[in-house]
Amino acid sequence: MIKALKYILGFVFLALIMGVILWTFSPEFKKAVQLRFLSKVSEVAVERMASNPDAQGTVAADFINIPIEAREIAPGIFQATGVGNAHLITTSNGHVLFDTGLSTQVAKQMEVLKPHLGGQKVSHIVVSHSHADHAGGTKAWHENGIEIVAHEEFSEEQRYLEELQDYQWFRNRTLFPFMPESPPRLGLIAYGGISPTITVANGTPLILDQGGRNMEILALPGAEGADNLVLWLPKERILFSGDFFGPIFPQFPNIFTMRGEKIRKPVEYIRSLETIMALDPLMIVPSHRNPITDKAAIDDGLGRIHGATKHVHDAVVEGMNSGKTVEDLMSEIALPEGHELTQEHGKVSWAVKSIWEYYMTWFHFDKTTELYAVRQDGVHADLVELAGADKLTKRAQAYIDAGEPLKALHLLDILGEAQTHEALILREAVLELLRTEAKATTNNSYEIYWLDYKLRETRAKLNERALQD
Ligand SMILES: [Zn+2]
Repeated sequence: MIKALKYILGFVFLALIMGVILWTFSPEFKKAVQLRFLSKVSEVAVERMASNPDAQGTVAADFINIPIEAREIAPGIFQATGVGNAHLITTSNGHVLFDTGLSTQVAKQMEVLKPHLGGQKVSHIVVSHSHADHAGGTKAWHENGIEIVAHEEFSEEQRYLEELQDYQWFRNRTLFPFMPESPPRLGLIAYGGISPTITVANGTPLILDQGGRNMEILALPGAEGADNLVLWLPKERILFSGDFFGPIFPQFPNIFTMRGEKIRKPVEYIRSLETIMALDPLMIVPSHRNPITDKAAIDDGLGRIHGATKHVHDAVVEGMNSGKTVEDLMSEIALPEGHELTQEHGKVSWAVKSIWEYYMTWFHFDKTTELYAVRQDGVHADLVELAGADKLTKRAQAYIDAGEPLKALHLLDILGEAQTHEALILREAVLELLRTEAKATTNNSYEIYWLDYKLRETRAKLNERALQD
């Protein structure tokens, strides 16, 4: 007993000493310690992801495996690669940093960019928007006197993402099961806590002319949220686009995101895109993956995204006015000829639904029960009792045979807790059919992540049953 007490006292004493050390040392020292810790956390995260079978071959795993290194993408402009790129735009009188990547990668990104500072300090950190893969390193880079430039909506976006972090983390982790169990909450690594010192409003660019470099920071909302900023170099005609175009250029925009975020405004996005087209960039530098330097590819890509998004938006509006249902429109609306785009990230039918709900919100003006808090599956057990689980399962099989897996899935959903072994086998078959279809058509990564999650769940139930039998 006394021995245990001694241990506890010894531990308390050590903790006190550590506390005093951390408290006495300069903020710089504390930051350096935290950054070293961050670097280690990042290494562990990469190893964990790389070795997890669920992560193999996914876009997320591709991203986390991107090596962190600095490269000069234009004279005096350096990109630190990573999940989210960080950019150092050098001038002879204070450098500008555009985007700061993930908090778990910032230590390494700082290390590779430091040799290019050339004795000058960073004067401004510009964050393209409030997402963790773009603003995550801001607190690590920030020192007294450095301005933090963000969209005037940044703080509000950061607020809701922070307040709903636990719920969003659960959704993210369902789709990306290799993620850590809970969001990081400590110091430099935690999400949020960024206070912009300069804000940029829609329609009023911030002009930064310093050290022989002309820069314009424009608010272009509607892409990855209401708080998008881009940085434009008018002389070089280089556009730092942040996440305006998403991870692939060109792609159909991610107006809806399965991770769960506020719906993005489609017309605002189209207008922002028109602003970019009027700039006529020679080079686009997204904060994910590589810069695009082929002018013909840039013009073609911008034209396609614009035409495709406008077409989908206008077709939804027209369809709504002519009395069509959202499901009609989801199955009818396709990208027009000449405006084909990959839907690997943003899927057209989901954008259709999002545009519909953006304008009319969740009440589809259809069923009375939509207005009340009693779910339809509250009477599923009655249906099973009346029809019998066997009959429902047989009919589901018939739908699968007839090439209508979604109708089969509706019937299987009715079974709820009454899932028999046969029903689970059918469910697995339906999910596999949907997955094959998704792979062969849009190859939308989120659709595949979701189907994989549901497949894992179904197979776990099958295993459970096998153990019981
Ligand atoms: Zn991003």
